Amino acid sequence: MNVSPGFSYERLEDQFAMKEPLNEAQAIAEAHRCLNCFLAPCVQACPTSINIPQFINRIATKNTLGAAKTILDANVFGLSCALSCPTEVLCEGACVYHALHEPPLMIGKLQAYAVLHAYEQKHEFFKPAKNTNKRIALIGAGPASLACAHELRRYGHKTIIYEKGSVPGGLNTSGIAPYKMKADLSLKEIEEILRMGVSIRYGQELGRNLSLDQLLLEHDAVFLGMGLSEEKFLGLASIKHPRILGAVSLIEEIKTAPAHNLAWLKDVKKVLIIGGGNTAIDACRELKILGIPEVVLCYRRDEHNMSGYAHEFKHALLEKVSFLFNTVPTEFKAINSQSLSVKLNQTTMSDNELKILNQSITEIYDLVLFAIGQNPLASVFSNLGIVLKNGRLKTDENGRTTHPKIFAGGDVANGGKEVVNAVYEGKCAAQAIHQDLTHG
Ligand SMILES: Cc1cc2nc3c(=O)[nH]c(=O)nc-3n(C[C@H](O)[C@H](O)[C@H](O)COP(=O)(O)OP(=O)(O)OC[C@H]3O[C@@H](n4cnc5c(N)ncnc54)[C@H](O)[C@@H]3O)c2cc1C
Ligand code: SF4
Repeated sequence: MNVSPGFSYERLEDQFAMKEPLNEAQAIAEAHRCLNCFLAPCVQACPTSINIPQFINRIATKNTLGAAKTILDANVFGLSCALSCPTEVLCEGACVYHALHEPPLMIGKLQAYAVLHAYEQKHEFFKPAKNTNKRIALIGAGPASLACAHELRRYGHKTIIYEKGSVPGGLNTSGIAPYKMKADLSLKEIEEILRMGVSIRYGQELGRNLSLDQLLLEHDAVFLGMGLSEEKFLGLASIKHPRILGAVSLIEEIKTAPAHNLAWLKDVKKVLIIGGGNTAIDACRELKILGIPEVVLCYRRDEHNMSGYAHEFKHALLEKVSFLFNTVPTEFKAINSQSLSVKLNQTTMSDNELKILNQSITEIYDLVLFAIGQNPLASVFSNLGIVLKNGRLKTDENGRTTHPKIFAGGDVANGGKEVVNAVYEGKCAAQAIHQDLTHG
């Protein structure tokens, strides 16, 4: 499924296998199962409201390009979302077949089948409208800004994305677990978006070599889609060690860096991953698949309070990840530059407050990863003059901030959800920007 090789060097993610895509006969047979439900619950569960029964019916009648058009019209990241959305809790989770005690429609696989077919045919569905002479600056080349820019091009507005790094796609390229989607496929999808005339300027970082005041002078509106930037670490003094890393940074390296950068991982035998969310589980599963013998996830509360999806937890159990629940690390001591001992204390909940107990064990690890969340870059916001809510950019449902020319969407505004939410919010903001620019 390597549609467009975006990297010229070997990466560790090349070692992961993705699920087999459906072939034509399988896709048509699966599509014929759809009951074309009235007020289809699968559509209601999709944040981008893709007309799922319509695209499935088009696959069943061999109108695969028509199916792709239905999907991409609603969600220009239709391929990425097909491969990486938690469909178990979204469209497939809502499929009426559950009530009939039968497997739900494979909506994600059908969606991937249709969009890949369209990309392989090099079919172009969208064209920019006549130039309006309006210019919009977008910060960050993640799914939120790219979806926003694509929609703005459909209205004929000029869009320039300013990206601090050198690769487009944000976490859609560098974060999605490689057994769901490889970075190359994200780049392939972005290639299609850029064909609409969206331009990206790399090495441009808001708050470093880019100022909001200047952008506001030179553009009619600004969209902030810079995601969450800083990984959180526990505030323990003993935390500095070369083998204590952020999980997101390591995942990014697995996906995008030359494999030889991570040659040291071959010597890692025992890893501790701290956190209870999807990033923690992804990191565990990725390291297990790479062959690390002992991967231990440590979470301060119990299994039922983990924010990671239950289906991902089950996969991790199958892959023999070990779990330490009701446990927190309280001390790290360097043994040498490649290993450290970690004191782990038991916890309990009392009056809704987490209490650290005296019972502890001390274990030796040769890698410790923190996966306890990410923060927006507060230092960048402090100079923007727009209102924040819980450390995020405060917006209305159309992405409007408290500044009339500044809009926002994706993780920076929602605090960290899924690609499909970032795409939806980027698209809504584009519609609000268009509305403001054309009807004042
Ligand atoms: C490890 C991990 C795994 C995930 N797995 C999934 C999954 O399987 N399925 C799913 O749907 N979602 C997943 N997500 C969540 C998903 O990736 C995000 O919700 C989505 O990418 C958010 O899009 P965004 O455009 O808001 O931000 P991002 O994707 O974070 O993109 C922001 C972009 O802005 C750039 N930027 C940041 N600051 C600046 C600045 N000051 N100036 C200029 N540019 C800047 C960044 O370099 C980046 O390119 C995962 C997240 C993580 C961390
Ligand atoms: S809920 Fe299931 S059966 Fe009904 S329209 Fe959606 S995919 Fe088809």
